[in-house]
Amino acid sequence: MKTLVLRGHHLLCVHGFQGLGYSPAFVQKMGEVVRLIRDPEQDFPIRVVCGFDETCLACPHKGATQCEAGPDSERHVQQLDRNVIAHLGLVAGHTYAKSQLVRLTRERVQPDDLDRLCEGCSWLVYGLCKAGIARLKEEQEG
Ligand code: SF4
Repeated sequence: MKTLVLRGHHLLCVHGFQGLGYSPAFVQKMGEVVRLIRDPEQDFPIRVVCGFDETCLACPHKGATQCEAGPDSERHVQQLDRNVIAHLGLVAGHTYAKSQLVRLTRERVQPDDLDRLCEGCSWLVYGLCKAGIARLKEEQEG
């Protein structure tokens, strides 16, 4: 399978995604990525980036060179990327096996870490993302 490009903070989003998003096209694309990542039978390379990824290409807020969801969005989403990349001990631009990234997320991220890692994200308040990380950690024990 070809290498998937994923921005750093989406490594967390994929575990809490429940079909909500910025547009039908974005939800469909994110759903495809989420299915691949949650499928334990699938392993493939993921290049972790601090910037646009394949889901951003389907987002209605994507501008020519930056996220245009709001005046500060590009700086904010890049900060979230850096938060997650640093927390997982990754290097931006490097490629990892999906299984390694899921394992690192399971081992190193606690649900309440999202209060810091995802600070300012409008989805955090719904609780789905923390629940997704909690579920990921339970799968390990189950
Ligand atoms: S709070 Fe935002 S950045 Fe964090 S996992 Fe959820 S959607 Fe992604």
